[in-house]
Amino acid sequence: MRRLLVALAATALTLAGTAVAAEAAPAPGAPGIGDSYYPDYGNGGYDVGHYDIRLRYTPATDLLTGTTTILATATQDLSRFNLDFLLDVSSIRVNNRPATFAREGDHELVVTPARTIAAGQAITVVVQYSGVPSSKVGAGYTAWIKTPDGAIAVGQPEIAWWWFPSNDHPLDKATFDVSVSVPDGLEVISNGVQPRVPVRETLGYTRWSWRSVKPQATYLAFFAVGQYDITTDTSADGQLIYNAYSQLLSPDFRDAAESSIERTNEIVEWESSVFGPYPFESQGGLVAPPGTLGFALENQTRPTYADGFFRRGSNTSVVVHELAHQWFGDSISVADWKHIWLNEGFASYAEWLWSEKNNEGTAQEIFDYLYAAYPADADIWTYPPADPTVAQLFGDTVYDRGAMTLHQLRLAVGDDDFFEILRTWAAEKKYGTAATEEFTALAEKISGEDLDALFEAWLYTPSKPVVASAASVAKVKAPKSWEKISLTHELLHQH
Ligand SMILES: [Zn+2]
Repeated sequence: MRRLLVALAATALTLAGTAVAAEAAPAPGAPGIGDSYYPDYGNGGYDVGHYDIRLRYTPATDLLTGTTTILATATQDLSRFNLDFLLDVSSIRVNNRPATFAREGDHELVVTPARTIAAGQAITVVVQYSGVPSSKVGAGYTAWIKTPDGAIAVGQPEIAWWWFPSNDHPLDKATFDVSVSVPDGLEVISNGVQPRVPVRETLGYTRWSWRSVKPQATYLAFFAVGQYDITTDTSADGQLIYNAYSQLLSPDFRDAAESSIERTNEIVEWESSVFGPYPFESQGGLVAPPGTLGFALENQTRPTYADGFFRRGSNTSVVVHELAHQWFGDSISVADWKHIWLNEGFASYAEWLWSEKNNEGTAQEIFDYLYAAYPADADIWTYPPADPTVAQLFGDTVYDRGAMTLHQLRLAVGDDDFFEILRTWAAEKKYGTAATEEFTALAEKISGEDLDALFEAWLYTPSKPVVASAASVAKVKAPKSWEKISLTHELLHQH
């Protein structure tokens, strides 16, 4: 017994010695957070808690200058670490001392602090920068959108690089303060709530401030500058609602957009009854100037919509879709971009449920229509939703086949278990990240059924699953809701 104790003590000493040796040699943080589709997105070695983004923007020159302060915690002993960013950096301070920095690869900013950082230590990073975002290219394109009266920072998966340095991956969520000073007379809209009213600064500029108090992925942070009419209201349960409409919209589009976006709170209430409590602190939406944006995006608390969604009149499908993302995509984010169907399949299925609720076609009728409409050699069948490839990240498979998968699950387990699965998923994964395998495991746990064959066929197999009751194309009529759902999806694919 005594011998054994001595042996254990010796082992402990050896381990302690190893730990000391590791501390003596801090290592660089990884240049990527480990995403299987985008290996150099995000970074390793630290975890961000808060971004304070303080900017000045001049539309006439597209010049963005500012300071971003990042509050983070080291997750390893760090000799240096990376940020993801494209604009021109003039200085970086880490924990009160000037740091050196260098560019690497497509969008990497390598920061070497004056002193090494210990695992668990708090890190304050202050980055000062300026640049013309529309002149910067990352991942082969420019995500920043210049508009006739301003600009919009909105995109997926890439957008943060053009306006603030970050750990750019949904695995590292944080709270945000965004404040932007713009020429008097322009509006700035961002996520969350306004902690203070716009404040006049010197030289004809006004500073607008916004705050997101719940964990938020970097790509879901956004801002828009331009001439917007902002409507504000308070929901029955006390949430602030901010909607913004570009003043450049023609009256037709404006009426159709308002008739859709002003129903945001009604749709949030309905979705709360289906998915469980709304996870965020405020609500709203923004409609971009005509022809400037080709898609919609579920920015946290405030989705942004292209005017094109309203070209055939009001369109609540797209509002239902983007608001469903507040649960599926924003509150529960992808742990790896390959799991994107957990966002798009769920938001698309919400449109089917909305159609069903409004007697414009049941989910079963939409399923039958889609199943008949896509021929066996269509991409939707070739690329399985659980691994769609980077090229099909926003392809039909993650939207339509993703929604069809959920419908098959609903048929297999019944409505009670199906909606219990959705609500439990939303509650258990709130503010976190998730993988496909976690969802399928939860579905099996709640239903008590073996669903391997169903998920294998619908999520993982590169061919058209067999459905017992499938009708032929000729016999399946498009449900009433299909016109708006198809318009919505035609544009959504243009991310
Ligand atoms: Zn979507």
